Amino acid sequence: MVSRVTFVVLSSVCCDSAYCNCVIANEFNMTAPIKKARKPEIITVSDHIAWSYANLARADAALQGGCRSYQRTHHIIRSRLFNGLKNGTMAIRSMYDDERLKMTLPQACCYCGATDNLSIDHLIPRVRGGADDADNLVWACRKCNSSKQGRDMLEWMSKKDGFPAILLLRRYLKLVSRFCDENGLMPTPLAEALQLDLPFDLSLIPHSFPPLSELTLWIYPESSVDVGEIPHETTGVELPTDQGD
Ligand SMILES: [Zn+2]
Repeated sequence: MVSRVTFVVLSSVCCDSAYCNCVIANEFNMTAPIKKARKPEIITVSDHIAWSYANLARADAALQGGCRSYQRTHHIIRSRLFNGLKNGTMAIRSMYDDERLKMTLPQACCYCGATDNLSIDHLIPRVRGGADDADNLVWACRKCNSSKQGRDMLEWMSKKDGFPAILLLRRYLKLVSRFCDENGLMPTPLAEALQLDLPFDLSLIPHSFPPLSELTLWIYPESSVDVGEIPHETTGVELPTDQGD
């Protein structure tokens, strides 16, 4: 279905600032017909990560807005972020917001929300080559930690048909992106990279996300804050909505 809305400033339909370092502020022609989004051709590791990350930003925007289904604006956010990451006009943002969340949210297991018997977990395990620095460290209860053992977060979750909280997946994708960037893997054909022995399983990086009703921004401890209280930077601009998608 083709939709038409008025001109807006590009920055108002940019992805959330917690996702990219977008500084472009030109006008974007929102009157252009928007075709139904299709999955782009994924050739390189960079494409692979960028598409997952763009889908993540789309889900984040929808959840932050309390939407039950994706609207046109959310698809634009995904499309713009993916294209920006691909052509180099945008970059995945630093861990600033992720670290801020870690410091401000109640201390709880990031996998189940338990607040007892907490320990430190390496999101990407050290035994697999995960970094031993703060960005890779999260809170985990003893039960989740012992269940996860030396497995990568996505590998562990996929075994139990789970899907991580959006903001946890954001941290994870940033770690994967950083590793691939530092090791010169971004331009590598994905098929080739899948054969490499990496600290994570590239094949598990999601392109398809569960429905919004099954996603959550964060796993909260019981009787804790609700979604609206997450300290989260935004563009500060209300995004246009469209009933057509
Ligand atoms: Zn737990």
